[in-house]
Amino acid sequence: MFTTRQLEFHVTHTCNFTCEGCSHYSNHGHSGTISVKDATEWLYNWSRRVKPKHFVILGGEPTLHKDLVDMVYMVRMMYPDPYTKIDLVSNASFLHNHPNLPEALKATNTTLAISIHSIKDPNYGKRFKRGYNLAKEWRHSRGVRVEFWDFTNKHWIPQYTGYGAMMAPYEDNDPQQSWNHCVSKHALQLHENKLWKCPALAYLPMQAKKYKLSEKWSPYLKYKPLDIDCTDEELKEFLSREHESYCSMCPAKKLDPIIKQDPTLPVSYWEQKYDHMGDIIE
Ligand code: SF4
Repeated sequence: MFTTRQLEFHVTHTCNFTCEGCSHYSNHGHSGTISVKDATEWLYNWSRRVKPKHFVILGGEPTLHKDLVDMVYMVRMMYPDPYTKIDLVSNASFLHNHPNLPEALKATNTTLAISIHSIKDPNYGKRFKRGYNLAKEWRHSRGVRVEFWDFTNKHWIPQYTGYGAMMAPYEDNDPQQSWNHCVSKHALQLHENKLWKCPALAYLPMQAKKYKLSEKWSPYLKYKPLDIDCTDEELKEFLSREHESYCSMCPAKKLDPIIKQDPTLPVSYWEQKYDHMGDIIE
């Protein structure tokens, strides 16, 4: 059994917001939900080989998954040792659709981490308020451990430029520096029953399937995740990797955080903004 700092798992790739520069590309209107049956098989396999200090259930927006409560129980069943802290990261939008979630979170000692994506935008504020209030109620009246994570701040660093088909890698050709500045460097992903270095690499093939990405992405689309059939030696080597050539796609310089526009803007807005007419529309 190997330990690792963090393992993240998308229960759905769908998100109701379009936060600019999302490192999981969840702002690009993806779809696809992982069944509890598939997730159970993947976790059963990997939990016998890798024990993370933090296991993070996220997406996309995980409260869009109809079986989220079952998923929470299943994850703790696979990682019963309290060594593994489980976080459920949600933008709070659909907490109200899961009345049994507070009980599941308490029973599994899972933290509900509410991501806050804007403090200024009124459209976002209107949509966020209901879930925000419910999360506070769960904390105060139901005894759920709730944290509020400020994703309006320094953690929202751009990892690519543009959007959709116009998305481009940085290619600063200094993978060591890119990795040094990377906010996702410990965010290992469990995706399609394989381990991936980070969200930027794990969900890039989804981007390529949806959009005709430029040739600049070809080297990064060649990334090979780790299969469950790997040897212990291969797993050990994978977990110890720091910068790799693939890190060239991310910025080598320390960039300022993105000041996000309204996270409720539709995907079509962003696609139009970055197509060849973008300057005129702007
Ligand atoms: S490719 Fe490297 S630098 Fe880029 S997000 Fe992944 S780990 Fe970070």
